[in-house]
Amino acid sequence: MPGSRSRLSHYRIPLFAVAVVALVGVGVASVLGVAGLRKSNAWTEHTYQVIHAIEVTDRAVRATEANARAYRLTGHPEFRSQFLAALPGVDAAAARLVALVEDDPAQAAPAHALRDAANAHAADLRRLYDLQEVEGAEAARQATDAAATLRQWRAIETAATQLRRGETRMLQDRKAHAQRQGLRLTAIVVSGTVLSALLMGLLMWNVVRENSRVRALERKTRQASQEMANTMRRIDRLSRQRHALSRYSGMLQSCETRDEILRLTGETIHALVPGVGGECYLFRASQDFYEIAATFGDAPAASADSVLPNQCWALRRGQPHLVPGGQGPRCDHLDVASARGDMDSLCMPLAAQGTALGLLHVALPADGDHEIEIELLGQVAEQLGLAVANLQLRETLRTQSLRDPLTGLFNRRYLEVSLSRELHRCERRQLPLSVLMLDVDHFKRFNDTHGHAAGDALLAQVGRLIQSTVRAEDFACRYGGEEFTVVMPELDAAGACTRAEQIRRAIGMATVQHAGQTLGPVTVSIGIATFPGDGTTPELLMQVADTMLYRAKAAGRDRVLHASHQG
Ligand code: GH3
Ligand code: MG
Ligand code: MG
Repeated sequence: MPGSRSRLSHYRIPLFAVAVVALVGVGVASVLGVAGLRKSNAWTEHTYQVIHAIEVTDRAVRATEANARAYRLTGHPEFRSQFLAALPGVDAAAARLVALVEDDPAQAAPAHALRDAANAHAADLRRLYDLQEVEGAEAARQATDAAATLRQWRAIETAATQLRRGETRMLQDRKAHAQRQGLRLTAIVVSGTVLSALLMGLLMWNVVRENSRVRALERKTRQASQEMANTMRRIDRLSRQRHALSRYSGMLQSCETRDEILRLTGETIHALVPGVGGECYLFRASQDFYEIAATFGDAPAASADSVLPNQCWALRRGQPHLVPGGQGPRCDHLDVASARGDMDSLCMPLAAQGTALGLLHVALPADGDHEIEIELLGQVAEQLGLAVANLQLRETLRTQSLRDPLTGLFNRRYLEVSLSRELHRCERRQLPLSVLMLDVDHFKRFNDTHGHAAGDALLAQVGRLIQSTVRAEDFACRYGGEEFTVVMPELDAAGACTRAEQIRRAIGMATVQHAGQTLGPVTVSIGIATFPGDGTTPELLMQVADTMLYRAKAAGRDRVLHASHQG
């Protein structure tokens, strides 16, 4: 992100260039400074050479003078030879001095004067020596020109002093110059080094800062992409969960049986919250407890097979109850011995329209507050409660539409459907089918004597007796009033007569308890028709059986009559 970079970063290259230029400047200044110092040193050396040359010339003149004078006074040959040896040194020393200062006009003039005076004095000494050698020492002494000698010495002294002063002045100037140069050089080196060090430090600091910013940015980017991936995973999981829930609710609508509902619920919970196990309980209204109806998951939790309403906190409070890792108020239906610290236990009540219908109990791997799981399982429990309520309602409605409420036997509508179906089946398979019509004898009188409620109790008793006497494949129905019909597939006339006799006798022996009284027994009359001999349609068979019932009544009641069979 260029916008977030520091302003210094934009000037990094110019700053670096300035730092490099400063360093190069320091280098060049150092080289030039050193060269200047060396030059100053050379000039200082030169000055010392000049001063030395002045001294050498002076000494040569004095040595020549001293030896000449000693030889003149003593005549000793040693002085003579020393004089002759020193004499050429005067010119040589003076010539060297002149050569050293030749390029400096200010010093060249006194140097020339010194040389000329020294050479003139040397020439005079030579002349006097030559005279002494020819005419003797006395002659030489007399020929000595003291005034000229004094002039020569003064000239030498003056020139030498002037030269020395000149050189001393130059030496001081050069020293001062070298000092200034040294100071300048030191200032340049120090300031250049400090400047480049500062710039380099600034750049380094900037680079380090930029690096740490880049690293922080990378960290943030990594974190952001991690968060993005997590969010995507969460969204993906949520969409899968939503899909599983909507599929669950859609499929629940089409479930026909309780087992189907429970199986689907187990699969849905497994898809929504992998790794859970548990049980589903349904309420048994007749016994007032919750009975285990299904288990699901790989590791069903250790919970009892039946749960009393007061054994579960979720049932008591009507809301989910979570026990994390066995810590907290546990429900009594949970097995304490098999409680695991790494598993959390969650109970959820199942209800619909305020009616408690069941209980969902799951064991979850211990992990946080299970907010999402409780939400998901809550939705499952809600759907499951509605589905169970719907199923119960459907079953009640079906029972009500097929069964007679007083006797629990099938009603007339069901009789018509099942008789037609069974008749077709027996016709196809060429099997007989018998229809039995039963009517309670003098039931009006019974009602009148004992009351309508007693009559109802008797009818319920008759219904139970008929149901207990017929086979499982037979259909016992209440045709209406105190009339009953039994459809007996695959039973021929003889078999039907036998069964009808059993029913008649059973009812004829039974009494009924009502309002503290023992009532009955009553008798019944039964008429029978058998397919195919007595009729081939349901209507005809019913009609013939009814006719036979009418005849049984007419014949004195309490009997069985078959249309084509004499029992
Ligand atoms: P029988 O069949 O022997 O000729 O005489 P009955 O007295 O049984 O004759 P009927 O069929 O005329 O009378 C039927 C009586 O059954 C009339 C009615 O009061 C009574 N009944 C019909 N349905 C019910 C019912 O659901 N409960 C009670 N308690 N009585 C009923
Ligand atoms: Mg009747
Ligand atoms: Mg009757």
